[in-house]
Amino acid sequence: MQHLASFALDIVRLCVWLVLLVVVFVPLERLWTLRPQKVFRKAIGTDLLYYFLNSLVPKLLLIVPLTLVAAAVHRVVPSAFYSSVSALPLWIRLAAALIVGEVGAYWAHRWLHEIPLLWRFHAIHHSAEEIDWLVNTRAHPVDVLFTRLCDMVPLYVLGLAQPMANKLDLVPLLVTVIGTMWGFFIHANVNWRFGFLEWLVSSPAFHHWHHTNDGPDRINKNYAAMLPWVDKLFGTFYLPKQWPEKYGIDTPIAPSLAGQLLDPIVAPSKPSLVRVL
Ligand SMILES: [Zn+2]
Ligand SMILES: [Zn+2]
Repeated sequence: MQHLASFALDIVRLCVWLVLLVVVFVPLERLWTLRPQKVFRKAIGTDLLYYFLNSLVPKLLLIVPLTLVAAAVHRVVPSAFYSSVSALPLWIRLAAALIVGEVGAYWAHRWLHEIPLLWRFHAIHHSAEEIDWLVNTRAHPVDVLFTRLCDMVPLYVLGLAQPMANKLDLVPLLVTVIGTMWGFFIHANVNWRFGFLEWLVSSPAFHHWHHTNDGPDRINKNYAAMLPWVDKLFGTFYLPKQWPEKYGIDTPIAPSLAGQLLDPIVAPSKPSLVRVL
């Protein structure tokens, strides 16, 4: 009964967040439209289902591995190290966590593209041919789970997140909220550019180029979520003055949510789930 009540509360919380996201992003996309697109575009229903699915499922699946990692590192690393990290000012811990989490997420994302087994799952996110804020949610839960593991585990190892702590752990909470909001923003159908700051903080243009299907020499770039200089550091930065011509992947994926969830597991040889680098 208690589980049912907390599940219902989660659904209500997600509905409130969804309303807030609509209130922010729909007017933004109307005022600074990059491409003329309908709000109720193709696959919007599936993307809304992904919104709820990916907000609920990966979080539950992460509890066990992250608790095990935290318990293991707390046995190995002296507790004095964690005490000194937690004594640092909040802004330093937050800045460090954003950078460390970003490097973890960069490599997770790059592996999702470069390792065929992982691309099967990540292809779902790249199937979008019209990009708007809600495309942020279109991802296989395995994709989300893998990315979250890669960005959160380093935070636990370095003591920037402490699941054993009794009080509210503010740093991972802020990293998650900031990262999630920025994820919606960089997918938005808005024509904003950040000028010379575009190498520092990701813009919609930076991530829209990640979704391009403009040719083999332009794909597999811009893996960072918030900090494009991480791509500069690892040689995958690509940001010309113009915008991409088209988005998506060459072969269509299953139209239904069930097909998209199951195909990477039961039909991995489908052409759309195989990408030649
Ligand atoms: Zn990608
Ligand atoms: Zn994306």
